Amino acid sequence: MLLLEAVLYFGVMAFLFRVRHWLGSGIFFCTLGSMHFLETYLAATFYVSVPGGFMLSPGSTVLFSGKLVLLLLVYLRENAAVVRQPIYGLLVGNLFLVGLVFVLRLHAALNADAGTSLPDLPFLDTMGWLMIWGSTLLYIDCLMIILLYNHLARLVSRPVLRIWLASSVVLTFDQIGFFAALHVIMDMPYPVLFGGWMAKMVAAALFSGLSGVYLRWIEPATSVPTPLRLGEVFEVLTYQQRYLALVEQAGRDPLTGLQNRTRLETLGAETVARLARDGRSFGLLIADVDRFKQVNDSYGHAAGDQTLQAVAAALQSCLGEGDLAFRYGGEEFVVLFADHTAAEVAEVADQILRAIRAGHCHPADSDLTASIGFAMSPADGSDLNALFQRADERLYEAKRAGRDRAVGPRLHAATRHATPGLQQP
Ligand code: GH3
Ligand code: MG
Ligand code: MG
Repeated sequence: MLLLEAVLYFGVMAFLFRVRHWLGSGIFFCTLGSMHFLETYLAATFYVSVPGGFMLSPGSTVLFSGKLVLLLLVYLRENAAVVRQPIYGLLVGNLFLVGLVFVLRLHAALNADAGTSLPDLPFLDTMGWLMIWGSTLLYIDCLMIILLYNHLARLVSRPVLRIWLASSVVLTFDQIGFFAALHVIMDMPYPVLFGGWMAKMVAAALFSGLSGVYLRWIEPATSVPTPLRLGEVFEVLTYQQRYLALVEQAGRDPLTGLQNRTRLETLGAETVARLARDGRSFGLLIADVDRFKQVNDSYGHAAGDQTLQAVAAALQSCLGEGDLAFRYGGEEFVVLFADHTAAEVAEVADQILRAIRAGHCHPADSDLTASIGFAMSPADGSDLNALFQRADERLYEAKRAGRDRAVGPRLHAATRHATPGLQQP
């Protein structure tokens, strides 16, 4: 009978999942939610004995194990951003259930006088807390099974084996965790722990096999999935990536897409502090577009904006992966270079000047130039403010000396673009 129940549960749920593009995935998810209630109810109230003197709950064995493996299927055929929705949905729904029951008991029920039976609120409480505990465990289980499945990729190539191994480990953990609650809340005897565990191991094998059938024949992969790093999966499952995206977005200058001044003061300062602590050499460069006000005055601010976008693109085209570029203000840009010598920064500065000149940045396509000042650690200082101040002074040196040039530390090669000699402070 257990086998029949398992095949029935998995069959119907897998069917609803398979037709999600036609019928909508809400049907699958709501059914999953209803079964979640039934599963906890059964786990709390309905036990059967199996040969060997053990007891097991069809709710835990069939429905819970099946749900966990189904969620892994959702992850495999959708992604982490989809599978997190039912996980959080169940958690929120169960918390809400307990909260609502708490409010409901404040009613004076009419049928109390009529002698008809009242809702068993204490039972709903027990169920609610069990479901909260169950879905908290499910949350951990889901993170574990997905991370484990991904992690096992290096050792085991066959998906079915990976599902089997991952689900066996996670269901073992889950059995201990859920039994602890049953034992404390409902005084459930120990044979339930062992009987349930053995049943879950059988269920893990069965559901892995069924998943294998599903993945191979019912819904084969249409594209090769790009494997995420474990950290990335974790970030998506825990919604951290939303937060990180928000932080990232808040730190971007909307016009140029570069990091903004706030990010220079946070990320920039942290980076500089880290590099200084590690004793690495680094540089800070400030670039300021020459006579930019004239561009605005002659061609309008919209054209000026486009010029700034082109300048930012030209600047970025000269940078390596490890270099951090920021838009400091209007037409001023800051770049941080890790592990660069002064000569290397001077070389990049020269490239930037050429790229801006050649980058069709000017609205009328005439030459647009910029001036650059840069400073190097540790000679010019080891914190962001000191380096910035030094680079800023040199930027003004460059402006005073006629613009369109870069000025850096005295002893190292500072570059300029046209013929006159190097400008050094
Ligand atoms: P210099 O060669 O001395 O640097 O001269 P400049 O004209 O570039 O310097 P100034 O600092 O006087 O002018 C910068 C101008 O940049 C003034 C401001 O109106 C303009 N600006 C600042 N932010 C923006 C922006 O987002 N878009 C546009 N179009 N213009 C901006
Ligand atoms: Mg300026
Ligand atoms: Mg300027």
